[in-house]
Amino acid sequence: MNALDLPHPSARLGAINGDAGDGWEILSTARAAKAAGRDVVDLTIGDHDRTTPAPILDALEASARGGHTGYASVPGIDALRAALAARVTARPGVATTAENVLVTAGGQAALFAAATGVADPGDTLLYIDPYYATYPGTIRGAAARAVPVTARAADGFQPTPHALAAAPPARGLLINTPNNPTGVVYTEETLEQIAAFARARNLWVISDEVYDGQVWSGQHLSPRALPGMARRTLVVGSFSKSHIMTGSRIGWLIGPAPMIAQLSDLLTVTTYGVPGYIQDAALAALTDGAALEREVAETYRRRRDLALATLSGASGLSLVQPDGAMYVMVDIRATGLDGRSFAEALMQAHAVAVMPGESFGQAAAGHVRIALTADDARLTKALDKLKTFAAGLAA
Ligand code: PMP
Repeated sequence: MNALDLPHPSARLGAINGDAGDGWEILSTARAAKAAGRDVVDLTIGDHDRTTPAPILDALEASARGGHTGYASVPGIDALRAALAARVTARPGVATTAENVLVTAGGQAALFAAATGVADPGDTLLYIDPYYATYPGTIRGAAARAVPVTARAADGFQPTPHALAAAPPARGLLINTPNNPTGVVYTEETLEQIAAFARARNLWVISDEVYDGQVWSGQHLSPRALPGMARRTLVVGSFSKSHIMTGSRIGWLIGPAPMIAQLSDLLTVTTYGVPGYIQDAALAALTDGAALEREVAETYRRRRDLALATLSGASGLSLVQPDGAMYVMVDIRATGLDGRSFAEALMQAHAVAVMPGESFGQAAAGHVRIALTADDARLTKALDKLKTFAAGLAA
């Protein structure tokens, strides 16, 4: 048989990573350097520099040993759905019941469910550039067309009504605030403009709020809380960032009850739910973990302050004011390099690994993203090196 006659993977699979690749080489460079014994300060991926706290692991173990090892309820166990509804009702203040809540395998599975839930094959879903790296692939994996709407550095990475108005017809808009990669928090004005746009065009809004507990000034705002928006908004949440549970794969989706019921059917044919002992651990994290959540957030606030103190006023770079999440975005265009070359050269010269802005879209070109994922001393040392390096290039 000729190879051409063999069955081949779907075009949809091939499209997931269609244009990926640009700007991700730094990860293999850093990994290789580490393997060769170099002490690399890794500020690339947004994962914590500590493991899941003991009380959460204790709850996980107690649940598993207590027998919660069989199939668990697919939309989520009642107690967890109720606890999440209470959390969402309190913050950001929209009446929410268990029927509005779907427990998912991380925020990522919630993103995929939401994209699948709002778009038919070939429909357009808009997303804001700069974006969290999986967005275009998630949309294409859901067989939709992924179209970016640019939020320019010059506008503080806030999407403008002008940019939104220029977007093609679509079924929905995916936004993320507090934002990865920029650390920017959308203003009330921006969210109102987004809501007005969604109402005018009859769009769904998929609002990724996985950093909702990591806001450094004011309080977290959700478009779901704006007039007429609860019926057209799906909110993505996660235990990954708030409770150091990245590897447990547990998050949630909030939305109108009929949509959530239908999306539960999608989970039945994909993950068949999240393990019961992970759900119990998450419930324990929610009910007893308020102090932990504050402490985790406080760590990133402190490091963000450290980063601002270390880098502000440095020559060759300027900071994008980070008001949330666990990242600092730095504009390095004054060095004459693009984000990729800067990140590669910094890695070679100083064994400090940061992400090129280009990894997160065209709008972040000429920037690098620093994940605040090293302890204070290592972070400060690494940022000092970055600062000296940028100043040397700019001179
Ligand atoms: N959304 C954003 C903005 C993220 O930064 C991440 C993780 N880095 C996710 C979603 C997915 O997180 P998880 O699947 O671990 O909940």
